Amino acid sequence: MDRHTMDELMGAPAETPDTLIRHMIHAARFIAEAGLLTPSGHANMTARLPGDPETLYLIGKRFDDSLREDDVAVINLRGGVRQGAVEANVAEVLGMHTAVYQRLTDVNEVNVVLHTHSPHTTAFAVAGRPMEVAIEALALLGVTRPVPVTRAYAPRGGEDAVGQILEAIGEDSPDTPDTPGTPAVLLANHGLLLWGRHVAHAVYTLLCLEENAQMVLASQALGGPRVIDPEQTRRALARAEAFRRAGDLTGSPSASASRP
Ligand SMILES: [Zn+2]
Repeated sequence: MDRHTMDELMGAPAETPDTLIRHMIHAARFIAEAGLLTPSGHANMTARLPGDPETLYLIGKRFDDSLREDDVAVINLRGGVRQGAVEANVAEVLGMHTAVYQRLTDVNEVNVVLHTHSPHTTAFAVAGRPMEVAIEALALLGVTRPVPVTRAYAPRGGEDAVGQILEAIGEDSPDTPDTPGTPAVLLANHGLLLWGRHVAHAVYTLLCLEENAQMVLASQALGGPRVIDPEQTRRALARAEAFRRAGDLTGSPSASASRP
């Protein structure tokens, strides 16, 4: 079977349930193939269409090539199952997904929540240490402050664990529309919970978080990372936005004269 890439996810975000489910399955396979999971393949993902915020689509099975469209269950924002089956160990953690949608509804445009045990990122969660922003790719997602970690281990998905997730998100309320806050929380002694505007955004965020974690850990052998100054991040975001507005480069001399 062909290797899965990000390319198929990079077009327009899904607008129908069928496309959303296809994107979710593709993303889950890509995440597994890209080495973003522990060997257990343990992960779960929920996603929704912006026009139907009460309906969540869920992949609760191991992320691998065996995933099929039938494996995607449909639940509501309170965790009630509308269609398909939700295994007990996934039902156990649904509360941490639904809490993120409910908490961030008024703040960020959240249409995907993803939970993994990505090994380098989880090392920070195990150490109980917030993860500083040390690579540009993560900074350019608008992350200006360390990714927070929940206070202490608590049973997964339980009231205490979810309360701690909300607490950690609360500490990171957005400063401005240009810096939309940190799209993730490290779950003490457990793993990672992150969210995004659409499937590709969430997968790319996972890639950046795991790469950042890997590089921070590797840099410890050289004295540790130098973190990125939030002010420089704001300048970088403004510059990237100016280039985005100006559009792609073309061969026309007038186009090159108007670069920001
Ligand atoms: Zn987990």
